[in-house]
Amino acid sequence: HDGPIETDAVIVGAGPVGLFQVFELGLLEIKAHIIDSLAYPGGQCIELYPDKPIYDIPAVPVCTGKELTDNLLKQIEPFGATFHLGQEVTVVAKREDGRFDVETSKGTRFVTKTIFIAGGVGSFQPRTLKVDGIERFDGTQLFYRVRNPAQFAGKNLVIVGGGDSALDWTLNFVQEGPNKAESVILVHRRDGFKAAPASVAKMKELCDAYEMQFMVGQVTGFEEADGRMTSLKVTGGDGVTRVVPMDVLMVFFGLSPKLGPIAEWGLALERKQIVVDTEKFETSIPGIFAVGDVNTYPGKKKLILSGFHEAALAAFGASPYIFPEKRVLLQYTTTSPKLHKVLGVE
Ligand code: FAD
Repeated sequence: HDGPIETDAVIVGAGPVGLFQVFELGLLEIKAHIIDSLAYPGGQCIELYPDKPIYDIPAVPVCTGKELTDNLLKQIEPFGATFHLGQEVTVVAKREDGRFDVETSKGTRFVTKTIFIAGGVGSFQPRTLKVDGIERFDGTQLFYRVRNPAQFAGKNLVIVGGGDSALDWTLNFVQEGPNKAESVILVHRRDGFKAAPASVAKMKELCDAYEMQFMVGQVTGFEEADGRMTSLKVTGGDGVTRVVPMDVLMVFFGLSPKLGPIAEWGLALERKQIVVDTEKFETSIPGIFAVGDVNTYPGKKKLILSGFHEAALAAFGASPYIFPEKRVLLQYTTTSPKLHKVLGVE
């Protein structure tokens, strides 16, 4: 795609509220593009508690974070929103013609009449390793996510972390296959893991077979030569620092949300939350709306059900920007032939 994508609505954030925003816009015949920095939709429900039960979605006595996300995706299917995942919205700027320029970290550009910020507690970013000077190797020898595993085949890897990502990648690089590394050392601060027990058992089995090594400890420093990291200093639970030669360091400390670029778009904020009215959930910039955990107003409660209500009113609030001539009336999905048509249930 060369030029920017022209659209009526861009939704920033594909958490539960951003997803339901697609539905509410869809009923008013407004097509949306939806963007998330995560590679998958669902926001906190998927990233933080996919298997935990939620009990306070109206008329759904119980469902997990994953089930809620799957059901929302099914519910918004008729509206054919375009998903742009794995990219953060970095730029939002007002244009002379009243519309907005929106740009993502991957360079996807939009020109849109309205924006719905459903950014929740922020975009999830990998937690970084705190070792002085090591950030210089980010993307060359230090990695927080694996995009192209084949690039690490035949290398000497040190993998840090104790969760599923650390264990899954360890197994991937140790076992026979196209990505098999020359050597793999897993480093975790304690001999206890927050990963699937089967993966932990498999890892221990591979250690017993001398296929890989596990060290209890923390990366506290590194050695370099000619601008390359040659080895890591790993300080063990016994207080002894050992030097571990390596080619590549992978760190999987999980993801933490950062409000990030949203704070730089000139919107009125209050304690890192976007101030909105409670009639349209519009921000201090006309045409930009904010819904879900990211907004604040008197009495705000960070609940999914509140976000759903906000999305409905924001859609009605945005309609005049898109259809200035049209009088939008409230219609029931139960009885409206027009809504049946947009829902595809005629
Ligand atoms: P989020 O779910 O936070 O999603 C926001 C999305 O926006 C994220 O995916 C993020 O990556 C993306 N994003 C942010 N900034 C950008 C950017 N610049 N570019 C691109 N993408 C961006 N609520 C309930 O109502 N009931 C419950 O039982 C309940 N249980 C919970 C249990 C736990 C353990 C937790 C942590 C929360 C719980 N909540 C519950 C709260 C609920 O999950 C949140 O209210 C809800 O997820 C908010 O939805 P959201 O769509 O506003 O934001």
